[in-house]
Amino acid sequence: MLIHENFNLQPHNSFGVSANSRYFSSVSSLEQIRQAFQFASEKRIPTYVLGEGSNTLFSKDFPGLIIKIALTGIKIDQASGVVRAAAGENWHTLVSSCMNQGLYGLENLALIPGSVGAAPVQNIGAYGIEIASLIKHVKGFDMRSGERFVLNANECYFDYRDSIFKKVGSDHLVISEVVLQLHQDWVPDLSYASRDEEFADASIETPQQLFSLVCQVRRRKLPDPKLMGNAGSFFKNPFVSAICLDELKSRYHDLVWFDTDDPGLKKLSAAWLLEKLGWKGQKNGGAEVSSMHALVLINSASATGEEISVLADRMMASVFDEFGIVLEPEVRIL
Ligand SMILES: Cc1cc2nc3c(=O)[nH]c(=O)nc-3n(C[C@H](O)[C@H](O)[C@H](O)COP(=O)(O)OP(=O)(O)OC[C@H]3O[C@@H](n4cnc5c(N)ncnc54)[C@H](O)[C@@H]3O)c2cc1C
Repeated sequence: MLIHENFNLQPHNSFGVSANSRYFSSVSSLEQIRQAFQFASEKRIPTYVLGEGSNTLFSKDFPGLIIKIALTGIKIDQASGVVRAAAGENWHTLVSSCMNQGLYGLENLALIPGSVGAAPVQNIGAYGIEIASLIKHVKGFDMRSGERFVLNANECYFDYRDSIFKKVGSDHLVISEVVLQLHQDWVPDLSYASRDEEFADASIETPQQLFSLVCQVRRRKLPDPKLMGNAGSFFKNPFVSAICLDELKSRYHDLVWFDTDDPGLKKLSAAWLLEKLGWKGQKNGGAEVSSMHALVLINSASATGEEISVLADRMMASVFDEFGIVLEPEVRIL
């Protein structure tokens, strides 16, 4: 196993910020993962498990070992609809492979950047679907106990952009494989059409058409990280009580909000809150709030991770001052 010292992380994060990790290792087997954790434990340094870095902001140099997961392999069983994908595979490649082999359900999640292993971590979701609904098992290794784990979807405690893997103190859980249960028959989820004209107007009759529409909409609405560093939505949509919502609605008649399964709990559009406060296009050094989408922070001019992080802090503070609402970052900030 190769361990690099003073390693530049710029090619390994979608913000494209320059930061160094004291050590870096790309691991492609269980044995190498064990060795990497052993190395960090002997040196008494922190570890961070990295996929493709599209939901990670390096706000400063990392003083420990970055363990980049490079496990590969995809097994698609068309007869049962069960798909086993190693954590280091690319998510979008998996989505298109499954569709091309006649297994459906992932089309709404096309073109989400990142690795398979990170998908359950924040329960990736888009256009009305969350990966939790298709997960059979998540397999991996508990590096504290040295034991393997196999968790079913309930045991992963999936929630909106959340799971057991995102909880504080769960950094020792390394996902090695994600097992999905997909469908042989295509039953499209077009619930998003009620929220998006482009979906409502499109005639979607095949999984390929849905896949293409999702890719087309995403390409138009979100900056491509290869051209403009970003991590997609930087903040989660906040939840408030129905009483709090009524109070906000009385002050802001154009407030954008959504129902949840719980009648007492409503979800606010974080993008609306930020747009209302005029954040689109605001800058801090080379960091900028996208003029296309108030939730997306971009690296428009060789930003440092710290500049992006400070901009995010200012946005959160202003939302709290105006609305009394605490915005929570979706991105993992180191
Ligand atoms: C343009 C753009 C659009 C996006 N759109 C969406 C969207 O629509 N919906 C959505 O949900 N997300 C979206 N994202 C966020 C991002 O794509 C997802 O969160 C993705 O799953 C991150 O994958 P990654 O491999 O890059 O994660 P990383 O940034 O490498 O890691 C993210 C987290 O997962 C952990 N992790 C990674 N691999 C493992 C592993 N094998 N075992 C244990 N922990 C691990 C890391 O420690 C970290 O906490 C978008 C990002 C971008 C840049």
